[in-house]
Amino acid sequence: MSSITSPDGPEPQRARSAQRARGGVGSDVDVVVLGAGPAGLGAARALARTGRSVTVLEREAGVGGLAASFEVAGIRVDHGSHRLHPNTDPAVLADLQALLAGDLQLRPRHGRIRMAGGFVPFPPSPIGVARNVAPTVTARLARDLLTAPLRRGQVDDTFAARVGHALGPTMLEAFYGPMVTKLFGLPPELLHGELARRRVSARRPSDLVRKALRRGPQGNVFWYPRRGYGQIADVLADAAVDAGARIECNAPAQRVDFARDDVRVVVDGNELRAGAVWSTIPLPVLARLAGGPVVDLRFRALVLLYLVVDVGRWSEFDAHYLPERSTPIVRMSEPRNYRTSADDPEGHTVLCVEWPCWVDDDVWNADPGALVAQLLPTLAAQGLHVPPPVEVVVRRLPAAYPCYDIGYDARLREVESWVHPLAPQLISFGRNGLFAHDNGHHALAMARDAVACYDPDGSFNVTRWQAARRGFASHVVED
Ligand SMILES: Cc1cc2nc3c(=O)[nH]c(=O)nc-3n(C[C@H](O)[C@H](O)[C@H](O)COP(=O)(O)OP(=O)(O)OC[C@H]3O[C@@H](n4cnc5c(N)ncnc54)[C@H](O)[C@@H]3O)c2cc1C
Repeated sequence: MSSITSPDGPEPQRARSAQRARGGVGSDVDVVVLGAGPAGLGAARALARTGRSVTVLEREAGVGGLAASFEVAGIRVDHGSHRLHPNTDPAVLADLQALLAGDLQLRPRHGRIRMAGGFVPFPPSPIGVARNVAPTVTARLARDLLTAPLRRGQVDDTFAARVGHALGPTMLEAFYGPMVTKLFGLPPELLHGELARRRVSARRPSDLVRKALRRGPQGNVFWYPRRGYGQIADVLADAAVDAGARIECNAPAQRVDFARDDVRVVVDGNELRAGAVWSTIPLPVLARLAGGPVVDLRFRALVLLYLVVDVGRWSEFDAHYLPERSTPIVRMSEPRNYRTSADDPEGHTVLCVEWPCWVDDDVWNADPGALVAQLLPTLAAQGLHVPPPVEVVVRRLPAAYPCYDIGYDARLREVESWVHPLAPQLISFGRNGLFAHDNGHHALAMARDAVACYDPDGSFNVTRWQAARRGFASHVVED
């Protein structure tokens, strides 16, 4: 177990945290937070600000979770393409603006997606498609738009049926279907309809048109910190420590036991006693550690390849979305294009490749060089010519995307009906803590809402927490 340090070397912000977070586990605290991603850090900071003693236990060597950043060849990179979306709750955004000061930049979105043999601005709209792909596809989209009112009645609760019903067969076949097949390793017919509700905000083709036309005067924009998306977690960690929280890295929770008056978390063979445990680790993992039901809720994994190439800038685009079957990856981003930063060195750039897989399958276990050799010709076939990289760095994320296969909902309910009655001793929230696809700003809003469940007398209002949880189910994810 260690205090906060970066796996890639000391950084000023983290060094400050390290000083204040040093020390072993062993003392009683009001709350133990499991996981130092945005949800855990946001909660730790807010709890500490109410005067509660808080210890955060993080399995990895640094903070940030899925939303962390680190350095490759002197360039800050994220775990795949990350943006702070403009629909972030205004209070959460104002807080981050204050914490990040001038480092939070408003940026124009400039990505593109491969569809029907052409490239279309991302997110795809019928207008963008009409301008960039074959007239036959445009004609089919126009037909889907006109026939939308005729698509009535009940549909199966699968991703394929829901998206096909809402947006028509062309968007399903050209974009959403192939994308989810690669992302989840299952065809859209075998994925639950809830995935469509959570990930596809448009309910009819006209919503896509309206959305494209409604983009404000600044166009399609996003927020991004100058030092990578993970700068959000870094400043939250420092703010949490400044408020009195302790953050222990390399400290995986190994067991959670319930006693009459407290909850005990075992880490490194030591027992930490807490009034409550707030968990943001994957819900099925929490169930295993805390004696809950063992159910088959799977996560799709990601192998991330960071290709260092000897060109100052590889393309003008921030990200390429690649749903087509002809390449195994789903997205390739160029981190330096997400921000303006004098820190980014000249002369070379990094491309971040997102390759979905299952933990322990052939891709997960493959040699990175072999993956790159397989990948580059598939990109070239799409007109994306990547020079041979001078360096390849790999990161493997075991729990990137909760897999909503058919029947997952009953299995999830089983774990939920175990965990929910354990409040206030144990609560679970955050993206994987809910087994949801939520964005980082959702995770931060959940942390805020959880802390707001304390009544003035210091007791945790379980009824309010239940209501907040129900509200989290309405989150719609942005890519
Ligand atoms: C490829 C990809 C792209 C994304 N793009 C965006 C985007 O553009 N915009 C956006 O807003 N969001 C995006 N997200 C989502 C964003 O990363 C998450 O919403 C956010 O990280 C969730 O924060 P969290 O704290 O809930 O969970 P996490 O970040 O998953 O943090 C959980 C923490 O728990 C730790 N942990 C696990 N097990 C244990 C244990 N036993 N003991 C102690 N610690 C443990 C983990 O190491 C991790 O640090 C993306 C996600 C992915 C995978």
